[in-house]
Amino acid sequence: MRSSPESRTSSNVSDSAGADNGGRTGRIFNIQRFSIEDGPGIRTTVFMKGCPLSCVWCHNPEGIAGRKQLMWFDVRCIGARDCLKACPVGALELSSDGMKIDREACDGCGLCQAACPAGAIEVVGRDITAQAAFEEVARDEAFYRNSGGGLTVSGGEPTMQPAFVAELMRLCRDAGIPTALDTCGYCAGDALERLLPLSDMVLVDLKVMDEARHLELTGVDLATVLASARTIAAAGKPVWVRTPVIGGRTDSEENIAAIAEFIRSEMQPVVRWDLLAFNNTCGSKYARLDMPWELEGTGLIEKQHMEALAAVAGSAGCEVHWAGVTARESDGD
Ligand code: SF4
Ligand code: SF4
Repeated sequence: MRSSPESRTSSNVSDSAGADNGGRTGRIFNIQRFSIEDGPGIRTTVFMKGCPLSCVWCHNPEGIAGRKQLMWFDVRCIGARDCLKACPVGALELSSDGMKIDREACDGCGLCQAACPAGAIEVVGRDITAQAAFEEVARDEAFYRNSGGGLTVSGGEPTMQPAFVAELMRLCRDAGIPTALDTCGYCAGDALERLLPLSDMVLVDLKVMDEARHLELTGVDLATVLASARTIAAAGKPVWVRTPVIGGRTDSEENIAAIAEFIRSEMQPVVRWDLLAFNNTCGSKYARLDMPWELEGTGLIEKQHMEALAAVAGSAGCEVHWAGVTARESDGD
């Protein structure tokens, strides 16, 4: 049985600080400065931890679970075993096969990370106040002013921690820093209504327009995503749509044409549509999280194919960009 946005959201962030404490802190997994892909100009992107989707191609698998997670880097490990001694619950086991992590027992306390002299263990996920996140974002205020950039809140899925995101956006806007919401579109309850008035623009993913395929590839139903897209369009803010182009999954001309028709007929505020060609560089992250990487061996998209899809996308009536390493480029042509 499919889950509702509400039930899926609450189950996925039940251990997320941001969801549990009314937004006093949010749980993030990265703050990326000088981003030029998450909206106009130079931006700082705050990546929230926890996503209701589990797309098979996700490039940020560390953002899917709401809980803190350990990553162990074999190339950095010097075998000191200080981490094993530091762990209060015995969640680590080091052998010639590598580090075995009992992920049920581990609560992400970080004592092993602090004890490791080689920096071979990292806890993914940290809890931060909106004020502290704002202060990090505000450091690059001059760059935003000169480039037309600002804050982007991404993830994971920012609408899963609406109180924190709202406060961070409010602080930025009070300081004259433009804000962008980057959402997967699977949004619970009134989270969108709460965040849209605080967002100067919105980025939203449209990935697959076939209902059964959408459920199979992302884990959630398409109807909720399309309903969110309509709500976003109705808010009248500038919108960028983004589509991951994945061989054999989302890269048919039929799929791109269906998204184009939806944008043309139902999302007039869309000013730009990005087609993002798949690459396989995130496989090592899956291994470090003990997660299966289903796209191992999936090839890069041909440049001509991206160009053909971009031509199909032109019927949406907005600016179309495509980006990413293509098979032809990687072959040195
Ligand atoms: S919506 Fe984005 S962050 Fe969430 S699983 Fe899909 S690709 Fe990953
Ligand atoms: S984060 Fe804490 S519980 Fe998890 S392995 Fe490290 S020391 Fe043990």
